[in-house]
Amino acid sequence: MLLMFNIQNIDVLTAAKSWRVNGFTNNTSSEFENGKNIAEIFGIDVFTIDKMREKLSKDVWKSLLATVEIGQQLEPRIADIVALAMKEWATERGATHYTHWFQPLTGNTAEKHESFITPNENGKVITEFSGKDLIQSEPDASSFPSGGLRSTFEARGYTAWDPTSPAFIMRHSNGATLCIPTAFASWTGEALDNKTPLLRSTEALNKEAKRALNMLGDTKVKKVFSTVGAEQEYFLIDEEFFYRRPDLSMCGRTLFGAKPPRGQELDDHYFGSIPDRVLSFMTDVEFQLYRLGVPVKTRHNEVAPGQYEFAPIFEHCNSAADHQQVMMQVLQNTARKYGLVCLLHEKPFEGVNGSGKHLNWSLSTDNGQNLLEPGGTPSSNIQFLYFCSAVIKAVDEHQDLLRISISSPSNDHRLGANEAPPAIISIFLGDELYGIYNRLESNNADENKSTGLLGLGTDILPKIPRHTGDRNRTSPFAFTGNKFEFRAVGSSQSISFPITVLNTIVADAIGKLNDELENKISSGKQLDDAVRDVIKQSYQNHQRIIFNGDGYSEEWKIEAERRGLLNITNSLDAAMLLSSVKNQNLFEKYKVLSHRELEARFEVKIDKYFKVINIEGETTEWIAQTMLLPEVISFLSELSTALVNTEKTTLQNSHLRIFLNEYSDLVDKFILSIEELRQVNNDLGGDSTLEKAKHMKDNVIPAMNKVRIIADKLERLTADRKWALPGYREMLFVK
Ligand code: ADP
Ligand code: MG
Repeated sequence: MLLMFNIQNIDVLTAAKSWRVNGFTNNTSSEFENGKNIAEIFGIDVFTIDKMREKLSKDVWKSLLATVEIGQQLEPRIADIVALAMKEWATERGATHYTHWFQPLTGNTAEKHESFITPNENGKVITEFSGKDLIQSEPDASSFPSGGLRSTFEARGYTAWDPTSPAFIMRHSNGATLCIPTAFASWTGEALDNKTPLLRSTEALNKEAKRALNMLGDTKVKKVFSTVGAEQEYFLIDEEFFYRRPDLSMCGRTLFGAKPPRGQELDDHYFGSIPDRVLSFMTDVEFQLYRLGVPVKTRHNEVAPGQYEFAPIFEHCNSAADHQQVMMQVLQNTARKYGLVCLLHEKPFEGVNGSGKHLNWSLSTDNGQNLLEPGGTPSSNIQFLYFCSAVIKAVDEHQDLLRISISSPSNDHRLGANEAPPAIISIFLGDELYGIYNRLESNNADENKSTGLLGLGTDILPKIPRHTGDRNRTSPFAFTGNKFEFRAVGSSQSISFPITVLNTIVADAIGKLNDELENKISSGKQLDDAVRDVIKQSYQNHQRIIFNGDGYSEEWKIEAERRGLLNITNSLDAAMLLSSVKNQNLFEKYKVLSHRELEARFEVKIDKYFKVINIEGETTEWIAQTMLLPEVISFLSELSTALVNTEKTTLQNSHLRIFLNEYSDLVDKFILSIEELRQVNNDLGGDSTLEKAKHMKDNVIPAMNKVRIIADKLERLTADRKWALPGYREMLFVK
């Protein structure tokens, strides 16, 4: 028993006061207690290709390797052998169950556990796990969002093993489960998940980037893929407060809460020393993640009080996306062991910074070359500028898709709110790189032929310094020396779709540059000249997307409009653009999403928007009516009694009367605002999901905001003992 207090007595013995004495350090992994070397335990719970090699015969392993590396179909004979080896490995390590672990369109992960046991003839059981079990499984698809992809045919869906992501063991206090990463599709073959399009986009990127490298003279390259490192921000609050805040448990964010006297203005939290309980929690998280092969690297306090961050070392985008989901799960599970709750919501608290998930993205070849790293030789610099130009082109041409990929009702609270990147998508290049492009653009190519490959006056580009810390925090998409950092991504979201979009739009842009380059060469241009022309022209066409200034400023909004950049201020408007003809054509061309699959994602987004806001609206009404209003009325009554009593005396009470007047006026307005909210809550706004979603945006959100503004004023005027919800003061500062 970890939490010794019972809920009724919660005020007496809080987790914050008692976490040390109650054995919160009772850890599930023995290595953690013994303080074993990290190198020894890293990846210990992952069935990597190397571990498979130890368990498999040479030809079976080779055949599997071909599947993993070049996507060859797995032979059924091989699947049985691999399954047996996997089961042996997992059961030796304590797993009793297995699950196909997949990423449905909810943005979370899903799992349905099956035990390894099968009855035998003696009334006993043996453990079994066949190739069939490994390769395919059939969870009931009808409970997952499908945006209409299922209803036209049948409700079934199946999961299929993704041999490129290794299986792993997830542990809990009483055992362990073998998790097999899978894709999830309908029986008609349409992707019902986030992993399938990600894998498809990786292929599109590979094809166009290899074609580019071949033209630029690298004929040895076998594979190009994107690398990703996603920095996860999160809040931790004491579990006690969570129990007492229905808004946190229903919606993941506070729907009420007056700003405390102290917020983040002292700037004392960022990179501050980490409180003991939090550090114990972080260490526990790290050890679990190490075992799962997740390369977590840095941990620190973030800007807001109670806010923290973990950042991993970058990996292949597919592993990074899997690992990101694992990290969110481990963070949330582990927090409870320490009497804490981990909030992944983008904006759990109004008035202090929200949480994001900076998505660092770059391009890598199979031999480890970072294609977005300016190199030390002219040819590597040409390459760098070529790929970098493709990214600039991609972001400019597909601002809408990037904006959509990060849109959610929860991220709406963050984007454009003067503490997070603006809703306008632009690129921060930094002075050095900006300078290089500008010189390239303004130089007359012919004049400079003799002076260097790119007409820059030098063969070798200056080394572009990596940014230290956050050089420009206000940009949603920043070049940071050897990678791009997409900062507008939300803390609670799956990173799969943003990566899918990045991979696809950059594949598209590289493809278009490739076509231009091919044309120029076939019309007789020298390679160097042709490349320079292509880069220069692309930059001229797309330089409007570059902005190195303050993205939070009002001037930027005006300037962005002048440049014709998109400014989509909320996620519903963003979602509306998802299945435009342009986007349909793009995703179909690269076989990432069919028209129907794209349409389905649009439906899911709208539906989610409606549901999330609907729950928030109902919760606001419920808390206001049943938790806040009764206490407020009771306090009003206390005040009235006091006034009546003083009337009988000669005591001075003119200010009491003024205060009472103000207070009762607010209470009256509060009742009215709740009534107005109730009315819009009771109205669905129409029959279609889209009409309902619009009703949420146009009517429910404003009504909710009105209730909250009055409630927050009342919180500052009402007796503390009467306020039913723990305040920001407690939640953010009790560590
Ligand atoms: P910075 O100094 O720019 O903050 P760090 O090296 O600390 O860079 O990295 C920040 C994040 O970016 C980490 O999660 C890291 O793994 C990731 N990252 C670094 N290089 C790459 C790359 N080539 N591709 C993708 N992500 C990367
Ligand atoms: Mg950060």
